[in-house]
Amino acid sequence: MKNTQRFYDIEMLNVTTVIEHVFCPKFTYYGCVLGLNQYEEKRGTVIAGRKLHSKHEKSNLSYLPKNIIGRKLVALLLYSKKYLFVGKVDEAIETNDEIILIERKYSNNHIIGGTMKTQLGLLSILLEENLDKPVNKAFVIFSKEGRYIVEFQIDSKIKKFALDMLHDTKNVIVNGISPYAKFDNRCLNCCYRKICPMGSLNTTR
Ligand code: SF4
Repeated sequence: MKNTQRFYDIEMLNVTTVIEHVFCPKFTYYGCVLGLNQYEEKRGTVIAGRKLHSKHEKSNLSYLPKNIIGRKLVALLLYSKKYLFVGKVDEAIETNDEIILIERKYSNNHIIGGTMKTQLGLLSILLEENLDKPVNKAFVIFSKEGRYIVEFQIDSKIKKFALDMLHDTKNVIVNGISPYAKFDNRCLNCCYRKICPMGSLNTTR
């Protein structure tokens, strides 16, 4: 596949970019087509989430969920030659016959929505291609006020959904056309709201 745009290498699309696309497809247009910086390092939740991941990469290397025996994998940067994307697996466990993903979220909202399904699906595809073992489930650990663990099944439907989102993201980058997105609560704290018609016409800040 040819690299057809200036700001983003289409053959090295990052899982994070696809997750942001699922959050709002205009992120792909502003970030990857127009090359506008998000300045996300200024956002409190982003900082807290990064601190949580980096803390567990360094200090909790031996953590294994109850009744799971296996080898802990930490901070793996993987590439898919088959689907042309890259992603970082923060934590996983390799057992004799499968790999189990561990994902941590700094949130009190314990729902596995579209962004999380995309993340888990794409990371599973990366692990399966690179380590040659199936990924059938993930443990999602929510920690903000207290700790809550959700066991989530990763099946072919989740992987197909994630690949469809990868395909949609690439389409916006290749076509360079601003995709449709409606105004809703996401826009209130969006880093692009001042330049996005949906945000600027509907918010006063
Ligand atoms: S303001 Fe709303 S529609 Fe515009 S980029 Fe942000 S979330 Fe998307």
